[in-house]
Amino acid sequence: AKHQGRGQCCLFAARMDESIKTRQLMASELRQALQQEKLQVYYQPLMNIDGSRVMGLEALLRWHHPGKGFVPPAEFIPIAEETGQIVQLGEWVLREACRVARQWPQLSIAVNVSPIQFRSAGFVERISEIVRSEQADSQQIELEITEGVLMDDTQEAKVIIDGLRAAGFRIALDDFGTGYSSLNYLSHFPVDKIKIDRSFIQSLDSGENATAIIESVVKLGHAMGLTVTAEGVETSSQMSALAEAGCNQLQGYLFSEAIPPDRIASLLSSGDYS
Ligand code: C2E
Ligand code: CA
Ligand code: CA
Ligand code: CA
Repeated sequence: AKHQGRGQCCLFAARMDESIKTRQLMASELRQALQQEKLQVYYQPLMNIDGSRVMGLEALLRWHHPGKGFVPPAEFIPIAEETGQIVQLGEWVLREACRVARQWPQLSIAVNVSPIQFRSAGFVERISEIVRSEQADSQQIELEITEGVLMDDTQEAKVIIDGLRAAGFRIALDDFGTGYSSLNYLSHFPVDKIKIDRSFIQSLDSGENATAIIESVVKLGHAMGLTVTAEGVETSSQMSALAEAGCNQLQGYLFSEAIPPDRIASLLSSGDYS
């Protein structure tokens, strides 16, 4: 039994080693991809409540790996966070998003900000400078952060949020409901929007208490002057339930997945969404 235990231990160590190598390889491939402009930013529309009009776009990173094909952000973002590359990556996404913002001044453009990037030195100054140099308007840019960002070192988080708002950015709280914060907690932070996590939208179909939860989030959100968006809307019955609950915006495959920037024009002009 002891012998077997050791074998398992070695196997475990070998796997660990393997996974470290895989991650190191991915980190260096990612660095190359960024340098060689092999990464792309795609855009998913945020719709008004009956899905008839595009209100904004969310920028989402895409990596088409020469060998592996499409690598989902869920696989490479954590590695980019570990290595610190996420700061550079995030700034590159913002730069790209600014160009789209300039081209479509009627739309708000949402950009995801990793907790690592949010806490990186000079964050507010650097992203303000990017927007300035791209001659975009920070008021058109919405930064999506997660609840976790607010939870640790609350004091510092507040200083950064205040700085971002002073620079003209709007703030959205992403994946709302999956963290530990309450809406009451939120009142300490001047955010503009909450995005109700996809998991709540999905449970609308299975009855449960999803409707009641969403209704109360909307109610409290509105009482605090926030816009409430629902993420991951896939069916028209979800759409009607969300309209009923008083949500302001919808995002999900029911309307469109994320598309490359050269398809934004046709998305906007297609009879459906103009
Ligand atoms: P997120 O910010 O919550 O983005 C929404 C994710 O849900 C996107 O996945 C989007 O494609 C997907 N989605 C949209 N509508 C639906 C739907 O109706 N059903 C389902 N099942 N999924 C839907 P994606 O693009 O794979 O991104 C995953 C996560 O990776 C993002 O979650 C975000 O946390 C992160 N990410 C993506 N791009 C960036 C980036 O530029 N910077 C940072 N820091 N993170 C990013
Ligand atoms: Ca997001
Ligand atoms: Ca989200
Ligand atoms: Ca998410």
